[in-house]
Amino acid sequence: MKALVLRGHGDTSMLELTDVPTPEISDPGDVRIALRAGALNHLDLLTMEGFPGLKLDFPHILGGDGAGVVESVGGEVTALRPGDRVLFNPGISCYRCEQCLAGEHSLCLEYRLVGEHLPGTMAEYIVLPHQNVAIVPTPPDPHPPISWAEAAGYSLATLTAWRMLNTRARLQPGEVVLIWGIGGGVSSVALSIAKVLGAFVIVTSSSEEKLAIAGDMGADVMLNHTELDVAREVRNVTHKRGADVVVDNVGEATWEHSLRALGKGGRLVTCGGTTGPMVVSDVRRIFWNQYTIMGSTMGNANEYAQIIALLEEGKLRTRVDSTFPLERGVEAVERLRDGRQMGKIVVEVRGEK
Ligand code: ZN
Repeated sequence: MKALVLRGHGDTSMLELTDVPTPEISDPGDVRIALRAGALNHLDLLTMEGFPGLKLDFPHILGGDGAGVVESVGGEVTALRPGDRVLFNPGISCYRCEQCLAGEHSLCLEYRLVGEHLPGTMAEYIVLPHQNVAIVPTPPDPHPPISWAEAAGYSLATLTAWRMLNTRARLQPGEVVLIWGIGGGVSSVALSIAKVLGAFVIVTSSSEEKLAIAGDMGADVMLNHTELDVAREVRNVTHKRGADVVVDNVGEATWEHSLRALGKGGRLVTCGGTTGPMVVSDVRRIFWNQYTIMGSTMGNANEYAQIIALLEEGKLRTRVDSTFPLERGVEAVERLRDGRQMGKIVVEVRGEK
């Protein structure tokens, strides 16, 4: 099959469209999917560049998110059939350990991500455990049907943002949430989720164009973080109270500002640090204001079922930034690297029958 692979760690010159062996069903619980589209996440850049502890067998297929048609199923799979239109949770766990049996799949010691530790979605086929696979739902009228690009771009960012805001930060109706860098996949879906949960949402970007789109998506306050002191502006619009929740995936460049933007008893939740991981926290600010700082990554099977239900109810959609054919997959990765996107960058794949 055709696949966009990494030949080694480095920049986009390490990417190559090539032929690799088609994956086979090896476990009776597996499902083989003919992919129709894959989608990129910031994680794909980290995987491409490499980081301590990541050991890959090259060539490695990039891409964490995807959607397609079930092509064949293992002997123990009863809930899915060939021909089903599906999307999937890219976090694979063992489904046997104490954490998995308690429903906390992303805390499993064997937790692995599609496209990071496992072969990715920039390919014609993928094999996954049936537990990770869900039928693409049909939202009620007047919502249009979900396209392959939307289905492909939905899972990773939505699951991540849902666990961050709903499970971890327990964002409540009427609370104030600050979301940095509204162009990214997790940030833009975090905005939509925060509105679903009834929060007052403040977003930031360096791009006036992205801020205008965020306004159309329901953001209550849009701040250009290159021109404004974001923490001071948050205090101004909240009558000095500060934000109840801050979503910070930016890391070194924003962390101190995030702490200054939080109100007393505030919660800061992070799932990454795109500008660098080594943040500095003033411990006096943390204890005196009784902050909670929490990490979050991906989500469990129950949370995945919740976001599929939100998709089915028409409450959440994927914002697709752009689509590229697999043959131009390198351009898709370059667009992600340059941070020009507002929503998901999708690569269309045509799986053979
Ligand atoms: Zn497990």
